[in-house]
Amino acid sequence: MSKQLAGKTAVVTGSTSGIGRAIAMLLAAEGANVMLNGFGDGAQIEALRAGLERDHGVKARFHGADMAKPAEIAELVKSAQSQLGAVDILVNNAGIQYVAPVDEFPDERWDAIIAINLSAAFHTMQAALPGMAARGFGRVVNIASVHGLVASVQKAPYVAAKFGLVGMSKVAALEYASSGSRDSGGVTVNCICPGWVETPLIEPQIEARRNGGSRDDGVRALLSEKQPSLRMSMPDDIAALATWLCRREAHNMTGAAIPVDGGWTAQ
Ligand code: NAD
Repeated sequence: MSKQLAGKTAVVTGSTSGIGRAIAMLLAAEGANVMLNGFGDGAQIEALRAGLERDHGVKARFHGADMAKPAEIAELVKSAQSQLGAVDILVNNAGIQYVAPVDEFPDERWDAIIAINLSAAFHTMQAALPGMAARGFGRVVNIASVHGLVASVQKAPYVAAKFGLVGMSKVAALEYASSGSRDSGGVTVNCICPGWVETPLIEPQIEARRNGGSRDDGVRALLSEKQPSLRMSMPDDIAALATWLCRREAHNMTGAAIPVDGGWTAQ
């Protein structure tokens, strides 16, 4: 079967680790040219970039924009357009976490979480959506969270940002719903709302629940609080859904916030 996303250009924020890296790899495997972004070791990022080109015959570039900084976000999108072509697929995935009760939450962490987990997606969408509409095809996949649908203690800015991301995505979905056609694929904006996914982001929360036991004990404790399947998702599981959302036949799936949470939000 021919590659579903051949010739498309994708920007995936926060794609040097975890869910974003898995999404970038699967989009490339489906034929998309990919702009990587995120922090990390330069040699490892270059190995990832070169590996995508070698393994999938696509173009892959890297831009180290700090998603907390609107001017750098604008540079990221411009750089993707000039090096890879107009942006067809935008995955807003970069995110950070910090846990503390409201009355102890540091102002600086509030500002950083809102900037990276919410405002960054506004800036990228503002830059990319008009071009998508003009071409009749575009996909925005925002990696929200189960915390965009329900709350947990000690996560005020994270929950605020993810609820905000879900709401903003629905607005953009409505504004662009009639762009393009069934044949061109239209312009869609959706959120994926994962429960626990096996990535470095949640290690501090696993560590906090070990109680002197093993990492597995910490994982079991974390899952038993909220996720009835008692299984973590893997980044590849989330990537499979993100990639499906980018296919033409997903043209009528828009404005959705899709839980991948082992039953967390069914309770
Ligand atoms: P991760 O820590 O493995 O990856 C985060 C990525 O974001 C990294 O590439 C990092 O370099 C990048 N990043 C962080 N700050 C950045 C900044 N200022 N500018 C640019 N890039 C930056 O975490 P992950 O679990 O893969 O998280 C990805 C997304 O998934 C986040 O939005 C997170 O909130 C969401 N999410 C994760 C889980 C989970 O259980 N892991 C669950 C629900 C939602």
